[in-house]
Amino acid sequence: MRITLLGTGSPIPDARRAGPSTLVTADGLTVLVDCGRGVLMRLVAAGVLPPMLDGLLITHLHSDHITDLGDVITTRWVMSPVSRPLTIVGPPGIREVVDHTLASLAPDVRYRIDHHEDLTEGPAVTAVEVQPGDVFTMGSATIRVGATDHKPVEPTVAFRVEIGDVSAVLGGDGVPCAGLDELCRDATAYVQTVIRDDLVKLVPMQRLQDILDYHSTVAQAAETAARNGVGTLVLTHYVPSLQPGQEDEWRALASPHFSGPIVLGDDLTAVDL
Ligand SMILES: [Zn+2]
Ligand SMILES: [Zn+2]
Repeated sequence: MRITLLGTGSPIPDARRAGPSTLVTADGLTVLVDCGRGVLMRLVAAGVLPPMLDGLLITHLHSDHITDLGDVITTRWVMSPVSRPLTIVGPPGIREVVDHTLASLAPDVRYRIDHHEDLTEGPAVTAVEVQPGDVFTMGSATIRVGATDHKPVEPTVAFRVEIGDVSAVLGGDGVPCAGLDELCRDATAYVQTVIRDDLVKLVPMQRLQDILDYHSTVAQAAETAARNGVGTLVLTHYVPSLQPGQEDEWRALASPHFSGPIVLGDDLTAVDL
């Protein structure tokens, strides 16, 4: 199984980092987790064309995690030679977001159907709403759903993708909690979105200070990994943006709490499990 950090940015636009999105690939599995700004540019850079996606998992409905939903739906549709339904799995509310996205795409769908004789139907999309505790299959993987704590944002979920004895947890946004611990137990890898509270606290802007109470710090992500016997910790969604050369500084905040490998870096950083 390979985890590729397609977009390691955050809501703050960054010339070097796409918005939050992670690709999980394995034999018989190509799944996208969240679809932030610029996701398809990074997807093709990782060697995956949109029609190859088995499905899309959404951790929560914050805009930075779903900004390019319309692009994923449209481009997968127009690039697929034959219709291949796209399954989008997310917390309650995802169906409404998908329905409204499809409504916003209606003129484009009409233009393309009118113009291309071989295109007779709009995008086939199935939105599936899941709850913590749900288990489903996608491609060759078994996927478990866990609760996260990103309050006041609700509902939010994390996913554990399992093939054989290899497992990857995609934690999404949030602070440590029992649901996330349960999902992370003995996972091969755990991907967590993180903030540097020490740096954020220096910025005298209340709107930025507000994010401190609902995101894991680098240390908290490392503690979650250690507490649950995780093999490899993968950090993404850097706030503030991780600057070139700062990788070891960020790693040094995690390493006192977690002794395993810590993966972080630019967009397209990948780890094989
Ligand atoms: Zn969020
Ligand atoms: Zn976010």
